[in-house]
Amino acid sequence: MKIAVVNSGSSSLKFKLLKFPQGTVLEEKLVEHIGEEHSDIKDHHQALEALAIDFSEIDVIGHRVVHGGEKFHSTVLIDNEVIRTIRELIPLAPLHNPANLEGIEVMQKFAPNIPQVAVFDTAFHSSLQKEAYMYALPYEMYEKNHIRRYGFHGTSHSYLLKEAAKLLNKEPEKTSLISLHLGNGESICAIQNGKSVDISMGFTPLEGLMMGSRSGDLDAEIVLYMQKSLNLSVEEVDTILNKKSGLIGVCGENDIRTILERNDERAKLAIKMMVRRIHKYIGAYFMLLDTEVDAIVFSGGIGENSQVIRDKILDKAILKNLKSFVIKTDEELEIARECYQIVKKV
Ligand code: ADP
Repeated sequence: MKIAVVNSGSSSLKFKLLKFPQGTVLEEKLVEHIGEEHSDIKDHHQALEALAIDFSEIDVIGHRVVHGGEKFHSTVLIDNEVIRTIRELIPLAPLHNPANLEGIEVMQKFAPNIPQVAVFDTAFHSSLQKEAYMYALPYEMYEKNHIRRYGFHGTSHSYLLKEAAKLLNKEPEKTSLISLHLGNGESICAIQNGKSVDISMGFTPLEGLMMGSRSGDLDAEIVLYMQKSLNLSVEEVDTILNKKSGLIGVCGENDIRTILERNDERAKLAIKMMVRRIHKYIGAYFMLLDTEVDAIVFSGGIGENSQVIRDKILDKAILKNLKSFVIKTDEELEIARECYQIVKKV
């Protein structure tokens, strides 16, 4: 069986073709700069034309969809109702869901007879208990405005769980982990018997760890202070929190390799702050998990490649006897696996 995986962003369209059940990659294509000023590719339709895909060979198409809200707890076969619901969720993911929808709709135009599947970044975290996903805000803000923790990077953590379970020679359903996805975006997930019980990212991917350019956790009053006392607009505050904070904010850059090479105070401080935040979460997750932790897992560009950062994180008495794995995450393979399970059932 041949499974296509599509990751449609606002300015890029990624396509990967895999053969199943082997999971081998047959083809990989990418179009970037969609809709940008000097680009020849004006929209996703043109992007798909540029990819020149041979649809005659494809059995199913899997789409990465960032936000499934409270509506989608698992992977689904796409129909009109699913499309309508993903559209309804746009206010929760204004940057991502519209681009994901573009990808779905344009694929449907080109390949109306091939089944399409949506795999949600949030779905793995739908196992969170209410006390884990609620914010201590007025309850109506949850009921009416859907403000709650959703968590992201779910496809990655789910993949890491399955691969770690193999290494542990255990069933994923019996595996408990602390799973770290450390890239430009960073998240840490507490997994108990195969289920996500807590995740550092929240209502949006901004919450939690100190990331490449995102602040992660901070006192919410700071946001109001920036607006009220520093007279910054909502857009300016948004840019500061998402694009000018984290490692970039503290030391001016976000590539761990360069930061580690530098020896100045800011660079050292940025690393110390990032690792300290990770330690806080690991400590908290040990308290939350009701089972023994089988392993700590490192993934993402930093987690996979930086021995120095991994060593700093592991340099704590509580982690001394814990197994640690470095696993290269593969979200596309996980999406394709999900598609394979769905079409096998049909
Ligand atoms: P994204 O979240 O955008 O997918 P990645 O998972 O690719 O990001 O991670 C990107 C980050 O990984 C880079 O900013 C850099 O800090 C780090 N990184 C990549 N390669 C290496 C390496 N060989 N050694 C140390 N850090 C690395």
